[in-house]
Amino acid sequence: MTELKWNQEVLTTNKSNEEAIGILVKKKSRDRFAMNLVKEYGLKKSAGKKLSESQLYWIHRLSDSDEKPPVKCSKTFYIQEVYNLLTTAKDNGLKHPKITLNNYIDDDELEYFFSLAGKRSKYEGNIVVTVGNEYYNYDNLWMTINPESGEVVNSKQLTDKHAHNLEILLSTFSTHCEIIGQLSGRCCFCRKKLTDTKSVRVGYGAKCAKSYGLNY
Ligand SMILES: [Zn+2]
Repeated sequence: MTELKWNQEVLTTNKSNEEAIGILVKKKSRDRFAMNLVKEYGLKKSAGKKLSESQLYWIHRLSDSDEKPPVKCSKTFYIQEVYNLLTTAKDNGLKHPKITLNNYIDDDELEYFFSLAGKRSKYEGNIVVTVGNEYYNYDNLWMTINPESGEVVNSKQLTDKHAHNLEILLSTFSTHCEIIGQLSGRCCFCRKKLTDTKSVRVGYGAKCAKSYGLNY
């Protein structure tokens, strides 16, 4: 097992450098970055030299992933309200504030999760969006949104359907908590069952209202 570091990131691999290079060559990658690394590896090797650790990191990382590079999306989302709630909760001492919005628009009843990208993420300061339930990320949707501009910083599997759902959920956010509370009987922040009628009506309980700075 080899450990390779690049910036703050660490990659562990069981492959030798030769094996990783072999995979990149076999992939016939059109990625110029990958192909330059392969070329560089050959040149250095014939000169009896070695690649730097960050170059080796990328050789292994690229050989590991079969995924397409993240797609830039031109859509913007109204995310300011969600961002304000999440940062308020963070300021109030919540470690991992999270908002869940059910989509009752079509029959899928998907749940969209919004959280803050943490300190160890290279997307720190942005909002992370996933879909599914607690155990499973449907469709592998994953995206980050810049809270100020609403622009998608990075995304995987952001289909038109998800983009459409998110657009509606976010633009009707303030009324959406209420709808979720009434339809699911669960708090859209902590997901706990709402026990009294007032909580069900507004869509969250007294504790979460305090954490997220909401009227209750
Ligand atoms: Zn709650």
